[in-house]
Amino acid sequence: MTTEFRQVRASGREESPGPVLDVTGLEVRYGRGRRSRRALHGVSLSVSPGETVGVIGETGSGKSTLARAVLGLVPVSAGSIRIGGEDVSAYGRRQWRTLRRRGVIQYVFQDPLRSLDPDLTIEDSLTEPLLVQGVPRKEAAARARSFLDRVRLSGELLERLPGELSGGQRQRVAVARALVTEPGVVILDEPVSALDSANRVQVLEILKELRATGVALVLISHDLGSVAGTADRIAVLYRGELVEVGAARDVINHPRHAYTRLLVSSAPTLRTGPADRAEREALRALLNA
Ligand code: ADP
Ligand code: MG
Repeated sequence: MTTEFRQVRASGREESPGPVLDVTGLEVRYGRGRRSRRALHGVSLSVSPGETVGVIGETGSGKSTLARAVLGLVPVSAGSIRIGGEDVSAYGRRQWRTLRRRGVIQYVFQDPLRSLDPDLTIEDSLTEPLLVQGVPRKEAAARARSFLDRVRLSGELLERLPGELSGGQRQRVAVARALVTEPGVVILDEPVSALDSANRVQVLEILKELRATGVALVLISHDLGSVAGTADRIAVLYRGELVEVGAARDVINHPRHAYTRLLVSSAPTLRTGPADRAEREALRALLNA
């Protein structure tokens, strides 16, 4: 391990022993004045170093809003966000840009073309965040190769543009890019939703392996089944509020909120008992009451 490599680690991983991400009483509104709508309300969630937290919820429940808020991409109207112990709630655009450049928090979006610059080769996409941090080019290139290998892609792809890769390959590059600076936490918003089932399984496997690097992952999905095997804890978002947070096993085996029960009973791979349509209808009626 070279000195540069250690410097990257030190800058990416804050030295505080506390949570890498700590959200308290978060509220996000869209629009202004009387016409504004609340997309998130009273959301509190703490993510420890190295832990994988699954955030589950139906379309429109506020998952992407939560991702955008903790990445500084939408303004927060109440509550606080701490990243690596640093209160970032009142940060302006420049401060957020500096924070992102330091590589403390990274992201992967559903569409890898949003996480990757279409005009940069894969090599440039992977080395750029390191060069910005002052890592020498040779070292950055070596790290790019090693991360490409970790997402099970061949070094032959380094010269290509994102548009010259398959969707599954692109998403694996986006994962490598998010991890190359060894951030404390990576926000992944529906990272496998646009992939076919073979690629979905592979990307989830890769994410599991990458946990060994010590990174914390926030794995957002509308599909409980697809994150159940990867997440340590599961947080359930329903109409802009977190209605349940717990160890993945507990949430799946003993869901408490009606919406969580509905999710579990609708996921064929998780269901322990027989598929009970009547139960699901009763839960839906309860939620709509
Ligand atoms: P999810 O990712 O869970 O599908 P979103 O966070 O995208 O949910 O959306 C949560 C709510 O906020 C939805 O009602 C959505 O219509 C609304 N919303 C999302 N983005 C915007 C925006 N840019 N302007 C106005 N409303 C938005
Ligand atoms: Mg979304």
